[in-house]
Amino acid sequence: MSLTLAIIKPDAVGSGKAGKILAHLESAGFTVRALRLTTLDKTQAGAFYAVHAGRPFYDELVDFMTSGPVMPMVLEADDAVAKLRDAIGATDPAQAAEGTVRRLYAESKGRNAIHASDSDENAAIEIGFFFSMHERLGL
Ligand code: ATP
Ligand code: MG
Repeated sequence: MSLTLAIIKPDAVGSGKAGKILAHLESAGFTVRALRLTTLDKTQAGAFYAVHAGRPFYDELVDFMTSGPVMPMVLEADDAVAKLRDAIGATDPAQAAEGTVRRLYAESKGRNAIHASDSDENAAIEIGFFFSMHERLGL
């Protein structure tokens, strides 16, 4: 078993889709190991997506990720990082496969419902970004 980080983004939390997305992920075989509802400020969102700093969509991405509450969560499964990327689908919901979270629940490439870590190394960094040592004990 391994861990990954998902974030249900402000579009999905704000439109009341968080519960459906959580149920979808549990049905897909993930176990929720940590979960919270929080709101990011610009410094936090900018740091989380620092890898995209300077890209044309970066300011829009930071504005969007600070526009309302988000739900970060630690998910556990066999090969969790790859399994979650498969479950969420392509960045642009119009390109995402049938039955994926983004195909079902995302509005657009910018407002795309969910984030998922893209490597084990980044999953460890991103889990540490949101969850304290206390919350991670036992993971
Ligand atoms: P995430 O990191 O949020 O899981 P991703 O890994 O599928 O998404 P990235 O390439 O890491 O995609 O881009 C991070 C986020 O930046 C995307 O989820 C999307 O919200 C936004 N983004 C990426 N490319 C564009 C674009 N061309 N126009 C608008 N927003 C974009
Ligand atoms: Mg990414």
